[in-house]
Order: sequence, then structure tokens, then C-alpha cells
Amino acid sequence: MQENKEIICYKCQKELVMEKVNFSYLGHNFHADILKCPVCGEVYISEALVRGRMTEVEMLMEDK
Ligand SMILES: [Zn+2]
Repeated sequence: MQENKEIICYKCQKELVMEKVNFSYLGHNFHADILKCPVCGEVYISEALVRGRMTEVEMLMEDK
């Protein structure tokens, strides 16, 4: 679970905080934890996380 190091906003030099967001992709809704700067609102979404979710959804669709 702790594979990510703390990520710091490069603008504010503040530690990003976890926030839950909902995504909609190809008619499926799912959620993910993203990192967001509490000061400027800049979000950081790990590409690996997004790709993982997309793959999950695509596998669900192929199942049908
Ligand atoms: Zn910031």
C-alpha cells in the first residue's frame, strides 16, 4: 500500500492529501484515490492507478 512516497506540490511545497473522486468511463462508474494539493487544488493522478482501473473496466466489458 505504501509504494508511493509523499508527493509535494511543486508550486506550494505542500504535501498533497488523499481525496476520493468518482470517474465515469465507458458508462461505468468507479472511484479512485487521488492526491490533491490543499493549497492550490492541483491534483496528481498516478498514471499506473488510472491504467489499472481502465484495465479493470475493459476486462469487465470483455466478460460479457
Ligand atoms: Zn499547490
